[in-house]
Amino acid sequence: MTRPAPKSFHVKSFGCQMNVYDGQRMAELLEADGMVAAQDEGAADLVVLNTCHIREKAAEKVYSDIGRIVKRARAATGDVPMIAVAGCVAQAEGAEIPRRAPAVDVVVGPQAYHRLPDLVRAAGEGKRAVDTDMPAESKFDALPARRRPGPSAFLTVQEGCDKFCTYCVVPYTRGAEVSRPWGAVMDEARALVDAGAREITLIGQNVNAWTSEDGKGRPQGLDGLIRALDRLPGLARIRYTTSHPNDMTDGLIAAHGEVEKLMPFLHLPVQAGSDRILRAMNRSHSVASYLAVIDRVRASRPDIALSGDFIVGFPGEDEADFVATLDVVRAVGHAQAFSFKYSPRPGTPAATMADQVAPEVMDDRLQRLQALLNEQQAAFNAATVGRRTDILIERDGRHPGQRIGKSPWLQSVVVENDAGIGEMMTVDIVSAGPNSLGGVTPARQAA
Ligand code: SAM
Ligand code: SF4
Repeated sequence: MTRPAPKSFHVKSFGCQMNVYDGQRMAELLEADGMVAAQDEGAADLVVLNTCHIREKAAEKVYSDIGRIVKRARAATGDVPMIAVAGCVAQAEGAEIPRRAPAVDVVVGPQAYHRLPDLVRAAGEGKRAVDTDMPAESKFDALPARRRPGPSAFLTVQEGCDKFCTYCVVPYTRGAEVSRPWGAVMDEARALVDAGAREITLIGQNVNAWTSEDGKGRPQGLDGLIRALDRLPGLARIRYTTSHPNDMTDGLIAAHGEVEKLMPFLHLPVQAGSDRILRAMNRSHSVASYLAVIDRVRASRPDIALSGDFIVGFPGEDEADFVATLDVVRAVGHAQAFSFKYSPRPGTPAATMADQVAPEVMDDRLQRLQALLNEQQAAFNAATVGRRTDILIERDGRHPGQRIGKSPWLQSVVVENDAGIGEMMTVDIVSAGPNSLGGVTPARQAA
């Protein structure tokens, strides 16, 4: 059955920062193909669900979202929009998706989304439009130039992963570890700054494993790239995420102490605090080696805020293992963190390991871990009160006259101010809540 070509689209991204980046790039691609962005999915002829497969609920949510979109469209106008499923669920499930949800017209994996406009056309002509290839050509070469990135922009520099942690689907859904070349990254960074970005967050599944030759043919690691970006006029701040403890090189650690634009924040997942569990996870680092990295980073940049990812209830984790995770959190004093219940992912080694942990035990451990992490986050925020710092204004606040900016330590700071989005401003931090800070401009405080 043929159907009219969609004129408007809406992209909805789930999961990690890389999906946020991919979602923006798909939007730019569809705009370059002549479509316009709709305010919301209800007003769009094409809805793109950019999915995440890292935990079970995320995939289930996609199917319930598809059902909801169809139901809502039938009730509103009777016209169901074209639906495209992109991202890691698309990669993992492929043609199974339209079998389970026949309303889906297009399925496209994370390495093939540069072909999205062609797939949309094929679906319009009633052809099968499933593309989960990992093509040899780089999708980045086929993407249009960056537009309207906002003050804080993501820039993918590295994709895929060769580490094969036993719980994780990323090596299967995103493929082997690939670094984007130096020139392409620098060009995109310049385009982002020209389009208004003041902060760039370099992203990758293992971003600190990034390597390339620079313009003079010299091998460079992430620290070399950060030092080059430091010299980019108009760029005020640099961040990077997500890193692996084993790839924190001496150069990168030194950059934290030397590069002014590199923000004092490091997201460095440890996952668990027991060496036995880390071995079963195939993390290839120990608790001691992780803590040694943290010590060296802190020696280089004493005010750095540390973040991480944690998994509770990995197969075989007993109470003593879990308590060891709490001990690591206390030892490091994480300023923020993401914590998850282990979710068996089909096809990964851990999914078939013995001693899967009971759901109620996982619930209890997650609650205890999150209580500790929340306590530490609140303490970290409270310790910022009284500091004078710069914030980057990113958006309007909830109330008129309010703006929300980010501190160097990635905290949201609410100010009563009419500063423009993208402005850097100096504030005194005067209050702290669990999730945000209150700031005032120094002059206003003195008045
Ligand atoms: N590459 C990064 C790393 O090694 O830390 C992060 C990759 S993953 C997209 C983000 C986080 O999801 C992981 O750090 C881990 O805590 C969590 N995660 C991955 N697989 C999981 C699973 N099967 N169950 C629960 N959490 C999982
Ligand atoms: Fe997944 Fe481990 Fe690779 Fe991170 S390092 S993406 S957790 S396999």
